[in-house]
Amino acid sequence: MVNFSSETKNFFIVSKYDKLDFLLKELLLLTDAFLTFWESVLTQNAFYRRKLRVGAGHVSKSWIKDNFDSFEFTSKSELQDNQSAYPPYGDFHYLKLEEYNRFHQTSGSSGKPLLFLDSKDGWEWLLSNWLKIFALAGIEKSDRLFFPFSFGPFLGFWTAFEASLKAGCLSFPGGGMSTEARLALIQNQKINVIFTTPSYALRVGEVARNQGLNLRELGLKKLILAGEPGANIPATRLRIEKDWGPIVVDHHGMTETGPVTVECSSTSGLLHIIEHAFVAEVIDPITLKKQSHSTIGELVLSSFGRAGCPLLRYRTGDIVHLTHQKCPCGFNGQSLLGGILSRADEMIFLKGNNIYPSVLQNMLHSIDGILEFRITFRKSDGNSDLMFEIETLPSDSELIKTRLEKVIQSAFLFKPLIKILPKDSLPRQEMKSQRFIQI
Ligand SMILES: [Zn+2]
Repeated sequence: MVNFSSETKNFFIVSKYDKLDFLLKELLLLTDAFLTFWESVLTQNAFYRRKLRVGAGHVSKSWIKDNFDSFEFTSKSELQDNQSAYPPYGDFHYLKLEEYNRFHQTSGSSGKPLLFLDSKDGWEWLLSNWLKIFALAGIEKSDRLFFPFSFGPFLGFWTAFEASLKAGCLSFPGGGMSTEARLALIQNQKINVIFTTPSYALRVGEVARNQGLNLRELGLKKLILAGEPGANIPATRLRIEKDWGPIVVDHHGMTETGPVTVECSSTSGLLHIIEHAFVAEVIDPITLKKQSHSTIGELVLSSFGRAGCPLLRYRTGDIVHLTHQKCPCGFNGQSLLGGILSRADEMIFLKGNNIYPSVLQNMLHSIDGILEFRITFRKSDGNSDLMFEIETLPSDSELIKTRLEKVIQSAFLFKPLIKILPKDSLPRQEMKSQRFIQI
């Protein structure tokens, strides 16, 4: 089992609900449409048939339903190996090559990039999921949507932008622009919905303050944040909302899955999983044991579409708290309480503690006067340590250092190494931040 420190447990709030209710609802997730989809996939897909050790003639809806819980999980490294064995795309892509017309890949930050091809139908499924997210986030045809980054080879912004066009929204690409130019565009074009990362939202807030510009006065309706934990980290969100106003919407997706969740406008911190798009499960990331009731663990997703590259019990590497609690908005499906709490591979073990970077980020962003930070985990046999580099104003530095020492000591019972840096000495990132380094 994963053991969480008391500080982590306080941050990862666990709600109470009925275990039997959870199990009944989970059974209902394997709907006839889901089973029909996977019956069709497994009949054609040699990768999954080898994995499940089943012949095409033995696949049926009842067989899938009866055996689903014993199907082996699919991992990213397994798909990477499959692409090495059947280059370049792997035979988990099983349609004829001419049926695909889209190429994307993952960042490769944890090994070789994973390549994904999409067929026309698969792409339409991804866009339809975005349209459900727009509806849950309250985005309307009259809204003006801004996508500030270059889209690169990753799936997210391409699908979001095309869904915006499909929804009939006036859509603005902003790749390759400076932050100042983007701020001018937001004002001149009366943009009211922005898709960005929490790190860049903080960066834009910093630039706007330097310009004497109040972002709260721009008439913005929604700030859709994704790509890294942040919108769900209380102190980080507070900082973002101080600049932008209470318009933050947390969202998550990945190239492997497309968009998956969006925060409901009725319940802050509750991210609904797109209905009829995924079946979600949670496992202990160490024992791989499926968790049968509300708990924190690694999110496992089975897709309900995108037939050209479907995912069956795919280990996302995201630590989440999966719930089935009914939301006041009427949503009665699966949700993630608190969004993506962390990445499973980011947890570090230090001096008797299991520590997640998002928990540390919450602590650092809780302390006024810390302008930016970087944390380095130096791992060595018997003498690992954490180094905090923090940017502060010179007048505040000693006071802030003492405050951070106290916060870390009371949570983890060790004295941290803290280095004070002058303002603007740490890099500001577009897209995801690199505030946590392991060496
Ligand atoms: Zn809701």
